[in-house]
Amino acid sequence: MKNIYSNIYSFNKKILKKTVESLKRGNIVGLPTETVYGLAGNAYSKASIKKIYKLKKRPKVNPLIIHYTSLKDANKDVIFNKNFFKLYKKFCPGPITFVLKKRENTNIDKLATAGLNTVAIRFPKNNIVKTVIRSSKFPLAMPSANLSSRLSPINALDVYEEFQKKIKIIINGGKSKIGIESTVLDLTDKPRILRPGIISSKEIKKFLKTNLSHKKSRIKSPGMLKKHYSPGIPVIIGRKPSNINDAFIIFGNKYKKRKNFFDLSKNGDLKEAAANLYKIMRKIKKKGYKRIFVSKVPNYGPGIAINDRLKKASQ
Ligand code: AMP
Ligand code: MG
Repeated sequence: MKNIYSNIYSFNKKILKKTVESLKRGNIVGLPTETVYGLAGNAYSKASIKKIYKLKKRPKVNPLIIHYTSLKDANKDVIFNKNFFKLYKKFCPGPITFVLKKRENTNIDKLATAGLNTVAIRFPKNNIVKTVIRSSKFPLAMPSANLSSRLSPINALDVYEEFQKKIKIIINGGKSKIGIESTVLDLTDKPRILRPGIISSKEIKKFLKTNLSHKKSRIKSPGMLKKHYSPGIPVIIGRKPSNINDAFIIFGNKYKKRKNFFDLSKNGDLKEAAANLYKIMRKIKKKGYKRIFVSKVPNYGPGIAINDRLKKASQ
């Protein structure tokens, strides 16, 4: 069923067929995942990958995450290792991305991996994206469906606002449950977090029974660049605003309710706070506030991922 936006569709057999045909022709589509909405293209097609970078205005040095539904398919493109198998069993499908060595004879387009000899792979949990991948004969390269350096979308309408009619199909899968991007973990050497997420480094460390590496990354990519996840207005951390034209993001009910105060989680639940973060920042921007001030968010578990995004948004 179409709505007034005419390129946003609910999911059904007919739109599945249309989406897969579109991907086969090398087009780009907007898809829901449990983390954030993605801009999907055939990972084996140079033309598709080029379109993704162009649409997002993404620097070519920033590689894309490649999405699969089976180990068998992923095994064609990357070389697995022990840590990968352990983590796969525990956390997949889910909000975690693994950087692994690329196979010599892979069909993944070089541009998608920014010419690196590694590939970042993920097994998403969302049923819509899983069905689309399964129905295609190739994995999907799928960065977040936003212009480079901006906030990730968590609704079909957010995707529309980024790209309007520049993409022909956006599938509406409701709000992304997790609401922030996946944890990215480099497994090519001693495991190392490249981007914090809902699955925390503590959890991974405990599960692998090994310390994680804290070596600085050699890889350059916006996920690691300083400025990212920007709502398009200044973000100021650790301070309360002094006037009502500025919004204040708070965590837990420490403050008396005000019109310009926005609570990430009234119960002080960090997972809920992560799921609300982008939604609240978009809402604040839309309401016309000029700046966003943010109170302290505890720096453990999902709080580490929240603070990572806030810090980059404030650059
Ligand atoms: P996004 O644009 O939100 O999909 O984020 C993709 C993230 O995956 C980037 O921030 C990169 O850090 C990371 N990434 C993708 N491919 C690689 C790779 N081969 N090596 C290291 N990091 C990667
Ligand atoms: Mg992104």
